[in-house]
Amino acid sequence: PTGEPEGHLVHTSDAYLPDANPSARINATLLALVRNEELEGMLQSMRDLERTWNHKFNYPWTFFNDVPFTEEFKRKTQAVTKAKCNYELIPKEHWEVPSWINDDLYKESVKILEEHDIQYADKISYHQMCRWNSGLFYKHPALQNTQYYWRVEPKVHFFCDVDYDVFRYMHDNNKTYGFTINLYDAPYSVPSLWPETIKFLAQHSEYLHDNNARDWVTDKLRRPSHNDQASGYSTCHFWSNFEIGDMTFWRSQAYEDYFNHLDRAGGFFYERWGDAPVHSIALGLFEDSSRIHWFRDIGYQHIPFFNCPNSPKCHGCTTGRFTDGEAWLNMEDCRPNWFKYVGMG
Ligand code: GDP
Ligand code: MN
Repeated sequence: PTGEPEGHLVHTSDAYLPDANPSARINATLLALVRNEELEGMLQSMRDLERTWNHKFNYPWTFFNDVPFTEEFKRKTQAVTKAKCNYELIPKEHWEVPSWINDDLYKESVKILEEHDIQYADKISYHQMCRWNSGLFYKHPALQNTQYYWRVEPKVHFFCDVDYDVFRYMHDNNKTYGFTINLYDAPYSVPSLWPETIKFLAQHSEYLHDNNARDWVTDKLRRPSHNDQASGYSTCHFWSNFEIGDMTFWRSQAYEDYFNHLDRAGGFFYERWGDAPVHSIALGLFEDSSRIHWFRDIGYQHIPFFNCPNSPKCHGCTTGRFTDGEAWLNMEDCRPNWFKYVGMG
């Protein structure tokens, strides 16, 4: 039902197998922004990823928090991996609401967002989290010398044994970004994101990549039952609770300028711009679309969606299942859209 093309699997030559080339280890970390209260959910995610993949490669974990991690959090997370765990506090200036955000205007905006049933609108920390994930995580001093990351949230599942080094795969195949799930977003969470992007492009057409995925970003074939697009943006986005990425892209001048433009425009607070649509639009415009990779072989779940490959290496995940929620949620899948415009990458 996802309309995905057949027969394209990541080839796993020996070069990607564990310890095939230990000297050429990739500069990478597993990365989680997480709260102390989410310890159990984090342990669950870690156990899944360690069992299916990381125990073969032992990439370090880096945990981020806006408050210090508890000793219990540190002890229990370190206990489920042989790899090194780092615990990092987010600098105040990366987390706090920017000075140019007007509190009264924010409160007014929340009312409008709530009228449109936008979840978490009144939770300021959610807006802060989206902003940090959009434009700040890769600026943390602890990541200064790290190139690749795999973002992991608490309470997610990994189902398939993955036998090759995905970071090496990214590196050797010149990939910038890897995803598992593509979804439509609630248009009312991002009504001015595309208009702001158009303004930015008018000043910075030089950042548009020759092989961009703009047609995917602006596609009009949005699911028919819903209120269409968000002012020209299809709302299709890489679901960013899973990301495998090369931070070189986020650290580029193009993305830096784009993020600063958006940040000034205020939509992280006056609307509820997510890091997923922000990352996705930037990738769709400023990156070579052939450098974006669908990890079809990584079985994944973040409630309520799945990526479930058809493979004997996958356990506890029904092949092809997209959701375990209500049937209409199947309409949120926009991977076919990506395949249509861009192919497999
Ligand atoms: P959802 O997936 O959109 O429902 O949002 P989540 O509640 O899962 O939040 C996304 C990620 O950000 C998760 O990894 C959370 O642990 C993390 N997160 C969200 N808000 C905060 C916060 O205020 N502090 C910290 N430290 N982490 C947060
Ligand atoms: Mn989540």
